[in-house]
Amino acid sequence: MRRVGILRLLASMMVAVSSCAPVSRMPDMAPDAVRSERDSLRQLVIEQHLDDAERLHRIVYPILAANASLCGTRIARVPGFLVENRFDFPSDYHAASLSAGLGDGLSVVAVAPDSPAARAGVARGDRVIAVAGTPLSTGTRARRDLAEQINAGNGAPIALEFERDGVQRSVTLQTQTICDMPAIVEVNEAINASANGRGLIVTTGLMRFLGSDAELAVVVGHEIAHNVQGHIGLGVNNQGVAALFDFFNARWGGKPDDRDSEKLPIGQAYEAEADYVGLYLIARAGYPISAAATVYRRFAVSAPTSIAARRDSTHPSSPARVVMLDETAREIEAKRAQDLPLLPELNKTTKSH
Ligand SMILES: [Zn+2]
Repeated sequence: MRRVGILRLLASMMVAVSSCAPVSRMPDMAPDAVRSERDSLRQLVIEQHLDDAERLHRIVYPILAANASLCGTRIARVPGFLVENRFDFPSDYHAASLSAGLGDGLSVVAVAPDSPAARAGVARGDRVIAVAGTPLSTGTRARRDLAEQINAGNGAPIALEFERDGVQRSVTLQTQTICDMPAIVEVNEAINASANGRGLIVTTGLMRFLGSDAELAVVVGHEIAHNVQGHIGLGVNNQGVAALFDFFNARWGGKPDDRDSEKLPIGQAYEAEADYVGLYLIARAGYPISAAATVYRRFAVSAPTSIAARRDSTHPSSPARVVMLDETAREIEAKRAQDLPLLPELNKTTKSH
């Protein structure tokens, strides 16, 4: 009797297990087809990355160029193009990189508008073959070698050999002084950007959220301002990296703390300064400053916790940011109307910028 009971139990368990599996008979998949699709998807990822990198370079470069005089010693002399090769991607993306046109040597993936490289006719897809008559190295060191050889010219025009569609051509490029703050696209659906003192990082999530270049320039200006003002390491946030929006990770539970009239906590004061100086930086680069308030209103609607002022937030509240940016835009327009230099105002006690 007992044995029969156990068999019955096993039988009922088997029914239960089998009822968890799908009941539809689906088409067979050829392993080759899955592998082929995997490679195609990886190629699409790389092509999307190249489009994103080109867009970010196009937006960031004019801001870095227009503000070189505010960047002190953190400057570089560059022709204005961006290069990558297949070693910029994980090893399982190497085949896809080759299909997307990236090899062992460096390929031009972006040319900044109005840069010396653009004026000389350098274009996306050109391969860099030689610098000053010497063949350029390949592999992981190639980009550093190219930058070092260009810097060694100390601003003098530099002779580069490019290859396009199997045809080589020599180009003598001027260089331009820009703030030395490389911008990196991070594949991350979170809507965010950050500065680390040396450069800036923009997520693909933010790039999708802000569809227009003028809107993205507002955020880029904020991050560059952190670097220009030397905020990193001064307590901008607790990780040494100035993320743009703490409110996207904000706690819905906490108690809002409305003290708008009080002095901002130090971290929030630095963030407010990055908003203020950042608007000047993009104005000096010719970007429309009216986009700024719109951008921060959109962020507020996406993350309503940012609307209330909170002492424990790393950023000022959204309404405070919007009002301050509007005031700053008025200040900049007034200076434009009077033909005054577009420079951020300093506290009377501040000795130097
Ligand atoms: Zn910030």
